[in-house]
Amino acid sequence: ALAAGSILYLDGVSVSFDGFKALNTLSLVIAPGEMRTIIGPNGAGKTTMMDVITGKTRPDEGAVLFDGSVDLTKLDEAAIANLGIGRKFQKPTVFENLTVFENLELALKGPRRTFAVLLASLTGAQRDRIDALLATIRLTERAQALAGALSHGQKQWLEIGMLLAQEPRFLMLDEPVAGMTDAETEQTADLLREIARDRSVLVVEHDMEFVRALGCKVTVLHEGSVLAEGSLATVQANERVIEVYLGR
Ligand code: ADP
Repeated sequence: ALAAGSILYLDGVSVSFDGFKALNTLSLVIAPGEMRTIIGPNGAGKTTMMDVITGKTRPDEGAVLFDGSVDLTKLDEAAIANLGIGRKFQKPTVFENLTVFENLELALKGPRRTFAVLLASLTGAQRDRIDALLATIRLTERAQALAGALSHGQKQWLEIGMLLAQEPRFLMLDEPVAGMTDAETEQTADLLREIARDRSVLVVEHDMEFVRALGCKVTVLHEGSVLAEGSLATVQANERVIEVYLGR
């Protein structure tokens, strides 16, 4: 029943590396249109969890279902990406020698763009779509600037825009505000809340001010399973969470 109404459903997922359990019967349910923050100390299993969702790592046991019924453990990484599952790694990866607009154009033309597709001029609808993406990622004024000339924060936004161009239904972001200025961090919270209106978003984050600004449900991972879940205030008041973060 839980799986039926969910965009992402993990049930009892375990992953071992040389006998060490990076994930230990992890269960997690994300609803369609939900934004969720995942926090937890280093080594908690956050990266391994994302690797399991994107098909980079196979779980030893447990279920991983997308959209209530698609078994992600049976699909390879390309097939999972094609379902509309996007992932942003910590470091921004943009084409530095192309303009902001050209970066979005490439992303819009898709990962399987052929030479012919690349040379084809944009349709009016495609231009409108790029203009809308530019507005979303706050880079309208910088459309003709080289991506390499952007600030670190703007590069992160551009990469988010490139992911959005592929219209993901579920987007995962790994510490999106690491290295950003306070102003950029604040704008990123607005940006993510905006894009979460049309899709599910999962954010792995260490910056508690940013987590507070996102204002969504928080899941605390520890030793490969869920330690606590709820509002930020609730999990921060949880005895077990305090123990884990302050050390015993
Ligand atoms: P987090 O992202 O929360 O810091 P990780 O998922 O990266 O945690 O790691 C969880 C645990 O699994 C860590 O103890 C890490 O050392 C271990 N681990 C992760 N990937 C591998 C791997 N490929 N081989 C061996 N151990 C790994």
